[in-house]
Amino acid sequence: MAASIVRRSLLARHGPARRVAGLHSGPRRRRVQAPGAAGEQGDAPWVAVVGLEIHAQISSDSKLFSGSKVQFAASPNSLVSFFDASLPGTLPVLNRRCVEAAVMTGLALNCSINKKSLFDRKHYFYADLPAGYQITQQRLPVAVNGSLSYSFHAGGQKNQMVTRTVRIKQIQLEQDSGKSLHDDTRGQTLIDLNRAGVGLIEVVMEPDMSSGEEAAAAVRELQLILQTLGSSQAIMAEGQLRVDANVSVHHPGEAYGTRTEVKNINSARFLARAIDYEIKRQIKELENGGTIVNETRTFDYKLGCTLPMRDKEGKQDYRFMPEPNLPPLILYDNKSLPANVNHSQVVNIDWIRERLPDLPSVKRAKLVEQYGILPEHCLTLLNEDGLMQFFENVMKQTEMNPKKVIGWILIDTLGYLNQHRLTVKESPVSSFFLAELLNLLERREISSSAAQQVFRELWKGEGKTPLQIVKEKRLEVIQDQQELEAICQAVMEGHQKEVAEIKKGNRKVLNRLIGVVKRTTGGRADLGAAKQIFEKKLSQ
Ligand code: ADP
Ligand code: MG
Repeated sequence: MAASIVRRSLLARHGPARRVAGLHSGPRRRRVQAPGAAGEQGDAPWVAVVGLEIHAQISSDSKLFSGSKVQFAASPNSLVSFFDASLPGTLPVLNRRCVEAAVMTGLALNCSINKKSLFDRKHYFYADLPAGYQITQQRLPVAVNGSLSYSFHAGGQKNQMVTRTVRIKQIQLEQDSGKSLHDDTRGQTLIDLNRAGVGLIEVVMEPDMSSGEEAAAAVRELQLILQTLGSSQAIMAEGQLRVDANVSVHHPGEAYGTRTEVKNINSARFLARAIDYEIKRQIKELENGGTIVNETRTFDYKLGCTLPMRDKEGKQDYRFMPEPNLPPLILYDNKSLPANVNHSQVVNIDWIRERLPDLPSVKRAKLVEQYGILPEHCLTLLNEDGLMQFFENVMKQTEMNPKKVIGWILIDTLGYLNQHRLTVKESPVSSFFLAELLNLLERREISSSAAQQVFRELWKGEGKTPLQIVKEKRLEVIQDQQELEAICQAVMEGHQKEVAEIKKGNRKVLNRLIGVVKRTTGGRADLGAAKQIFEKKLSQ
């Protein structure tokens, strides 16, 4: 579907675009230059195809099939029931909350919810999987055929916001595995089963994307949706949201290429880098006459490249089979709801649908409307953790117009945070102080250059209020009429030539005098007032 030409996006980031040779001019796939930046060589353009499989840990007090607590960073093996450890004779009991979270997610992603879905066993042998199989939904998942729309700044360009849609193939419920902890000093591997059996929602996307930044934007939107629904905390750094990226490349008009799968990426930035690396690697490999093998790879964030993990050649046989200990999962809607049954006894899809919160896209549209800011500004506000809240807090405390405030947030504040690699939470300037500063500016008690100076002082985080800084540094605007008149008079006396020119009718020169006032007062004079004084004096 939305697979765009890689050559363009790669070039966009690497300086001026060399004209792409026409498809019919010369032999295809002819190598033109020595290998370097793959994707910028050869006559035929390449198209990259990206499809994601995303696992989100469900926010729930207990696990998918057992009553063990779910908690991040608890002491190892402290949250393990007999079922989680696969003791014989234990049986799964489906957690209603996990089903509701999956249904909510399905609805939010425009899926059709299957009123009947099935559980299956997927077998593989690994130390952190005590049963030797994972319970998942292979044959008939809980939700299918959805879509997710997301926006991003193509090629990192600030003003060019692109909105795309990826199809969602399916959403399934499944169990998480335990964790292997490798103890290098003692050369042993320890198993922590706290995570074993935690409920996961797996979202499988169709291969509709074409670049790392696009995939990162889709994941970010999904993350915001999950967080809004409360179906997952979806914090990537804590492993609550894990992404597997499938990547392939081909020439337009030809069949899709063989794909590789980059596993377990747990940061949006690494996801984008891993995919872009993988695209380049595959193009280079193919242009050098090589082939792509269907393999699982891992992203080494220190080296910034993907490396083969275990071979998937000869396709692993998971020996899928129906889970005999769980009946089909039956969901209801208002129409099919049996009489004398209420929503607490069954899961009613319509009941959940009616209670869905505003999704991020709706929230953004409302904010655009409420504050009259641009959609792309809204996107940035929501993409940066905590920034929207920061903006709204400032708005509550300032009289300044939101369009002006947004500049202070997105350019000054965010610029400073990025430059110092700080998160919004770590910002030494609180929304309260920023609002006070903006109010001083709005009331014309300080000039905009003084405001910038106070802003820089605030970043020192010394706890001084904007007003204190203004007082200490004597940054208040000179509003006193007599004082201003004296200053203007002195400037006129020192600039006779300019005065003469203005009197001859060259009004532009007036700005030069105002500039002098600005300089001599260190930006403290009310320049509007100064202008009026000059005009009055010069017309006499
Ligand atoms: P399988 O049955 O082998 O698991 P699926 O059709 O379920 O394959 O796809 C698994 C994932 O791989 C999906 O996220 C899908 O979007 C992605 N995918 C499928 N084909 C390609 C391809 N040619 N290039 C990139 N990604 C692909
Ligand atoms: Mg699959």
